[in-house]
Amino acid sequence: MLLDFKEIPQANTGEGLQDTFELFARDFLEVLGYEILQHPDRGADGKKDLIVQENRYGISGVTKIKWLVSCKHYAHSGKSVNDADEPNILDRVGVHECDGFLGFYSTIPATSLGTNLNSLKKKIEIEYFDRERIEKTLLESPKGIKLASRYFPKSFENYKIENPKPAKLFAQESRIECEYCNKNLLEDKQGIFVIMKNFSSDGEKPKPSHYEYAYFSCKGKCDAILKNHYMQSEIMYDSWADISDYLSPITYIKRQMAWMNAIHIDRETLSQEAYDKLRKLFLNSYPYISREQTTGEKENVNFYLENGLMDWL
Ligand SMILES: [Zn+2]
Repeated sequence: MLLDFKEIPQANTGEGLQDTFELFARDFLEVLGYEILQHPDRGADGKKDLIVQENRYGISGVTKIKWLVSCKHYAHSGKSVNDADEPNILDRVGVHECDGFLGFYSTIPATSLGTNLNSLKKKIEIEYFDRERIEKTLLESPKGIKLASRYFPKSFENYKIENPKPAKLFAQESRIECEYCNKNLLEDKQGIFVIMKNFSSDGEKPKPSHYEYAYFSCKGKCDAILKNHYMQSEIMYDSWADISDYLSPITYIKRQMAWMNAIHIDRETLSQEAYDKLRKLFLNSYPYISREQTTGEKENVNFYLENGLMDWL
């Protein structure tokens, strides 16, 4: 489990206080497309249950299903929800004039409750979300991920570290395409950067090296075709690097330092074409190893942009 449900405080027993887990259930179901008919409340006139409506679109039109939502937040004790925790389900659904019962649990239903719910399926609509289904659903959509960041701030920090997203730095989304099949190699992270240098006239490796061509490619077939294309007129040395090396902070800086040393210490040179591709590689992979800007940093960049100081991008 990525999300720690204990981050949501235990149900309030005091008067007039909102129960955070119920509010979370409401927001969660709203993200899924349920319409909220009655908000959960613990006002002066007693406890109001959460009631939502699902619109099912079928051949004969829209079927509206009214669900009575039962929230049980036992994550702090870790106990499962058993059938004694959910008494008189049929009556409760009837009193609220609903068509179904929806359990929303921060742990899991016990076998006793599972059996009970299964037998009720003959009479009313039954649905439940346990902690795993809630987590899976949340992390499936951008809206769900946003909701997770609100209710599970600590868990979400860890999630972000394990699932880094490129920082939004440039106006356009980063792209590096395979030169043969046009696949965006930054997406599947399987591509390679190939760079080729000439042999010197005596057939030895020239010192310092001069890089003539470079290309981006998928591994395998696309690479073989492109290699063939570039080596048509002359035989060259080729070396390659995984593009994923440029998407990870330490290997990125290692590659960058290696290139700076090659150019400055070893006096290696690149053709304009090879240089442009190397530059493209560093620029487009940069958002993957970088972070979002603070408001102050954004203001600085706007100043640079307005004064034409970032035209090199
Ligand atoms: Zn390809």
